[in-house]
Amino acid sequence: MKKFLPFIILLSLGCGGTNNKIVNQNPDDLRRLTILYTNDEHGWMLREGQNGGAAQLMNTWIEEEGYVEDGPFLILSGGDMWTGPAISTWFKGESMVDVMNSMNYDAAAIGNHEFDFNQLTLLERSQQANFPLLSSNMRSESSGEIVNPALPYIIKTVNDISVGIIGLTATEADDINFPENVAGIDFIDYQDVLYEIVPQIKSEGAELIIIVGHICSFEITSLVPLAKELGIALIGGGHCHETVSKIQNGIGVMEGGSYLSAYAKAEIDFDIITNTVVDIDVSTHNNTGLTKNSVVDSVISIWQGQMDSELSQVIGYVAQNISSNSDAMYNLITDAWLWSYPNVDIAITNTGGIRADMPPGDITFETWVGILPFENFLYVIDITGEQLIQNIPYYVIGGMTTIPEIMLIDGTPIHPDSVYSVLVTDYIYSTSEYFQTADPDPLDTSIHWRQPVIDWIQSLNTNIDDPLDNYLDYEPRQ
Ligand SMILES: [Zn+2]
Repeated sequence: MKKFLPFIILLSLGCGGTNNKIVNQNPDDLRRLTILYTNDEHGWMLREGQNGGAAQLMNTWIEEEGYVEDGPFLILSGGDMWTGPAISTWFKGESMVDVMNSMNYDAAAIGNHEFDFNQLTLLERSQQANFPLLSSNMRSESSGEIVNPALPYIIKTVNDISVGIIGLTATEADDINFPENVAGIDFIDYQDVLYEIVPQIKSEGAELIIIVGHICSFEITSLVPLAKELGIALIGGGHCHETVSKIQNGIGVMEGGSYLSAYAKAEIDFDIITNTVVDIDVSTHNNTGLTKNSVVDSVISIWQGQMDSELSQVIGYVAQNISSNSDAMYNLITDAWLWSYPNVDIAITNTGGIRADMPPGDITFETWVGILPFENFLYVIDITGEQLIQNIPYYVIGGMTTIPEIMLIDGTPIHPDSVYSVLVTDYIYSTSEYFQTADPDPLDTSIHWRQPVIDWIQSLNTNIDDPLDNYLDYEPRQ
């Protein structure tokens, strides 16, 4: 590639006159790139309150940001695209990929939730996506090679700028995913990977280098010095559902919230002769769009129709909103499990798996796919009272209470040496070394954790005159 030694002057800009910016004398050499960025979308294609609204976001980008296909734009995602409302979870992310295809996403980082179903499903999603799924640190445990379907990076030319886009996946994906779904995969250290990848991507012609990372802002902050050293201009994050836009040590750092309730934007002025960033500005914006993009909306409508026919079956009625983090919700789930397994003493689950409220009105399958979106199954383990008592502070409990003191629900004290049978999800068991050690041979019921809840609600035949509210236990147990 021909290189010219440009004539550069230093100009003092800004009201305070303190920002020194390099401005190339020849404006013909300057190109603008605008990056529109979302992360942790979690399938929120439909608007609900402040969350969601893919069709509204698309129109915001067109109307407010001047987005045009094949224009000087990149649309990128920081990962965790699916697992959320039923319209996403029921179809194992297929509907969300369709929506993101219709929004012309250029690339997405692979987040930990991309593994929520299994590796085969992720492979199918990657084949369906019109955009690559990026992760440079997702490696085979045995060979150290990049694991299919991840691409470590892509180079895409936009507005005469050769943009290198490197993907990163949260290293804790190893620990927080269902182990079978990440079997054979290591998520290796970001720094090691960047030292390896950046020279490679430069040698392949990337001029402007950016990261799409499913990583939180505290991790980005620790990467900034390295980004500076390696010549990375911008780091987009995700995973912690943060809304972030700042320039740190000259590097743009941004995250666009979550659930498509917001987006981040980077505007980069790039000198295509000197291959330098002349100016970079990052910002975040709420998705307040009022009108729907017809193309995106028509894709959502097709999935909505399909879901309605499968999931709209009414299983009961509730008069008031039952919050996802309420005692009524916690008790309902664990009590329903024990209703299905009357010989088991105790049920415990984690608050993190309960992802939505139960809104007032008809209760459908869809309601519960949204509340408990993950593909978990029930295990029965046998543990001592002492092992139980040590662990319950971290969990939602049924069959027992800690108020006014620790005891079974019938008032019998829990004895440290007695053995109790406990319902847990395979997720909790697989991620708890403590439980694995306490009972190395759990009983796998192969029953989906959502099923007893649906069965129990259906068995009550609730309706507007006799709503589910009448059957809930509102008393805290912790
Ligand atoms: Zn995540």
